[in-house]
Amino acid sequence: MRLHDAALAAGLDWSAGHLVDGRRVQPHGEREITVVSPRDGSVVGLLAAADRTDVDQAVRAARLAFEDGRWSRLPAARRGEILIRFADTVAAHAEELALRIAIEMGKPVREALDVELAAVAGCLRWYGQLSDKLADENPASPGDALALVTREPAGVVAAVVPWNFPLTMTAWKLGPALLAGNSVVLKPAEQTSFSALRLGELALAAGLPAGVLNVLPGFGPEAGEALGRHPDVDVLAFTGSVAVGRRFLGYAAESNGKRVWPELGGKSASVILPDADVAKAGRTTAWACFYNQGQMCSASSRMIVHRDVADEAIAAAVEEARRMRPADPLDADAPSGALVSEAHLARVLGHVRGALRDGATLAAGTAERFVPSEALVRGSYLAPVVLTGVTEKMSIAQEEVFGPVLSVLVVDSTDEAVRLANATPYGLAAGLWTRDLSTAHTVARRLKAGSVWVNCYEEGSMAMPFGGTGASGFGRDKSAHAIDKYTDLKSTWFQLEPR
Ligand code: NAD
Repeated sequence: MRLHDAALAAGLDWSAGHLVDGRRVQPHGEREITVVSPRDGSVVGLLAAADRTDVDQAVRAARLAFEDGRWSRLPAARRGEILIRFADTVAAHAEELALRIAIEMGKPVREALDVELAAVAGCLRWYGQLSDKLADENPASPGDALALVTREPAGVVAAVVPWNFPLTMTAWKLGPALLAGNSVVLKPAEQTSFSALRLGELALAAGLPAGVLNVLPGFGPEAGEALGRHPDVDVLAFTGSVAVGRRFLGYAAESNGKRVWPELGGKSASVILPDADVAKAGRTTAWACFYNQGQMCSASSRMIVHRDVADEAIAAAVEEARRMRPADPLDADAPSGALVSEAHLARVLGHVRGALRDGATLAAGTAERFVPSEALVRGSYLAPVVLTGVTEKMSIAQEEVFGPVLSVLVVDSTDEAVRLANATPYGLAAGLWTRDLSTAHTVARRLKAGSVWVNCYEEGSMAMPFGGTGASGFGRDKSAHAIDKYTDLKSTWFQLEPR
């Protein structure tokens, strides 16, 4: 099946222009973002990058929309209806959006459709359906008084997001921020701005009032920083690298003290104990490291396996690496696609070569680019890599690679496995494989991670919060908890007349 043919025939419009106050506008910024498809190295389109003036205008539009109550003062259930319609509109345009994402950042179009777009629609719908199920608090008070604790929308939310799950990360911010009544300025990653602009248009088509969602493509150090330092932005929700997340904390401290929610990188471990279903554990660990070309914050990039079962787990991982050979992202049955860019491919290859210099061994893959076909010779592909003989102090065991590179570390006890799993500055996610119930509970508690998956990896639902500890940041996306990020608690005390 060639899923993309119909959409290509319909002709995707890649025309530029930002989305501010409900209209596509030409920005003032003079610099251009050149969007290059990592699928084949072709230029997808040019996009004017927002400068400080553009950021000011977008924040002003968001503030106006917030203050006049066109969204913030709608009944929550009405906001919920519009979010649900937004979800339906995304679902109706899922093929087109999936195709855009596949072209922009190289993930297989089938994955973009079945996983990413399903998650986007699912997230928006989940928050929409939550709208009439939230309750404020009425704490105990004396007979001559009434106490209320209510949630108030924070105001203007800026969301700065990455390219790896471009629309899912966006929906994880938009769902709770919009449900709570805020207005949003979204700065997508440079690589995936066209799909973000299209998402903004679909929100308008679904009935979101003008100015409530503004989409502003731009370079991080220019538009991103301007949002981070803007005196009229109340909340900055960020997903991306540790280095940039920490910059945002600095921008906030040096400007208006806005609250910043950093959701950052990881170096997650998948711990395989001897009593596990080892073949499944090895296969799933490898899959969760290679999925999305390894460009996953929660990727299980370290397999920590007991010596007694290491050979079996490694064999399963190597088999999975062979199965996940990259192919044209536009082929509906591609097991994996391209990395986001040539620069990123070079970085990932640098990690692999560094590990080999440090003494690791290749059990699968090579330290060279992969070429799926003659037509894609200028694309940015890497066949999955399994590295054995990795030890704790090697850079490959410590640094986030953000590519399809699995490091195998062999241990001799459960205690050593836990110590190693926790021996990085990160704390985003962890996997644990054991059939023993007590071991599962006690070890899961000891793993330093915001999410622990026992006998699985990457499972969950919208009801489960997602985020990390330590260097992985402290924000939480998804679930009702995410609403806390975008609201202020207000305590109101009513003194009653004696009767
Ligand atoms: P990145 O930090 O380079 O960029 C993320 C966003 O920040 C982009 O929109 C970019 O334009 C902007 N930006 C870059 N430099 C900036 C600056 N100086 N000032 C302000 N904004 C700036 O990250 P990336 O390469 O796009 O994404 C990969 C990272 O995201 C990985 O570290 C990954 O682990 C992380 N991530 C985390 C989660 C999570 O939920 N914890 C989810 C997905 C990705």
